[in-house]
Amino acid sequence: MAKTAQQLVRPEILQMQAYHVSDSAGMVKLDAMENPYRLPPAMKAELGALLAEVEINRYPDPTGTALRELLRQKMQVPQGMDVLLGNGSDDLIQMITFALAKPGAVVMYPDPTFVMYKLNATLAGMKPVGVQTNADFSLDCEAFLGAVGEHNPALVYLAYPNNPTGALFESGQIEELIRATDGLVVLDEAYHVFAQKSFMSRLPEFPNLVVMRTVSKLGLAGIRLGYLAGSPAWLQEFNKVRQAYNVNVLTQAAAIYVLGKLDVLEAQAATIRGERKVLRDCLAALPGVTVYPSAANFFLTRVPDGVRSFASLKSQGVLVRNFHGAHPLLENCLRITVGTPDENRILLSALREAL
Ligand SMILES: *Cc1c(COP(=O)(O)O)cnc(C)c1O
Repeated sequence: MAKTAQQLVRPEILQMQAYHVSDSAGMVKLDAMENPYRLPPAMKAELGALLAEVEINRYPDPTGTALRELLRQKMQVPQGMDVLLGNGSDDLIQMITFALAKPGAVVMYPDPTFVMYKLNATLAGMKPVGVQTNADFSLDCEAFLGAVGEHNPALVYLAYPNNPTGALFESGQIEELIRATDGLVVLDEAYHVFAQKSFMSRLPEFPNLVVMRTVSKLGLAGIRLGYLAGSPAWLQEFNKVRQAYNVNVLTQAAAIYVLGKLDVLEAQAATIRGERKVLRDCLAALPGVTVYPSAANFFLTRVPDGVRSFASLKSQGVLVRNFHGAHPLLENCLRITVGTPDENRILLSALREAL
């Protein structure tokens, strides 16, 4: 008799849960750090016409040469550094992890953080080690340095700023960690347009640093494109692990078009940064709500009863992300994406009702 999935699938996978995405049809969607703004109508029309001419009968340029060159210019990638493309930065995390996955090798990250670091480490048979942040979600640098000495990680992930907390670790601490480990440090700058801080220009200073970014939070989450900047010595190895045609022709064409008009997305990001300030003050004024400082396009908030508030918001048509139960430091925490002024108003009145 044939064996069952339970018998054949690896035990660590049997124990995992599939990445859960809530149904958001008809909801005010403030759960996934998306840019709420669309492209202006004229750009939509131009993009549509351009995509219609893309040769979808042909395989993509495997490494996305033209797009990589454009990213290099637009994102000020330093001379001598290379760029590698991913089907979202999730794809890049997988490539990096698989390339470094010697049996028993350690992957280290502050905790709580983006779940994909641990998930990929587990899938690759590496040992994930999270180092708890301080209660205010700042980096516990001393604990992290101690853990680096104890575990000798092959790979260190630092989200700059961090998700789901929004905390921007001090650049001096980041520098200290990069120098303290002989493993590879991946600085995940998914929110760089909102933080306006980056280590990109400093890549040449650190032989064990690569900078990872995504266009998702910038306003292109649907096309799935991430990019990694670093020295050719690292990137040529990760390139061997890359799925041959990981970035499709429509994504490459759309990204080239939109990057040519990057000022439009940057203006949207500036609007969101302005709205972030307004939303922060309004959230902080609600009784019983703690708002943690954020350099990203979302806020981690703590409410008296997270599960109840989440359910109430949902029933009022507002979707945020509930982190209660995900980590001891995230008790009663909800993560709220900065939306349009209208969306933020709806959120605030629904949250007032939910409390
Ligand atoms: C959203 C996010 C990503 C994922 O980006 P994709 O390119 O959409 O896969 C990576 N890192 C962090 C910290 C994020 O918050």
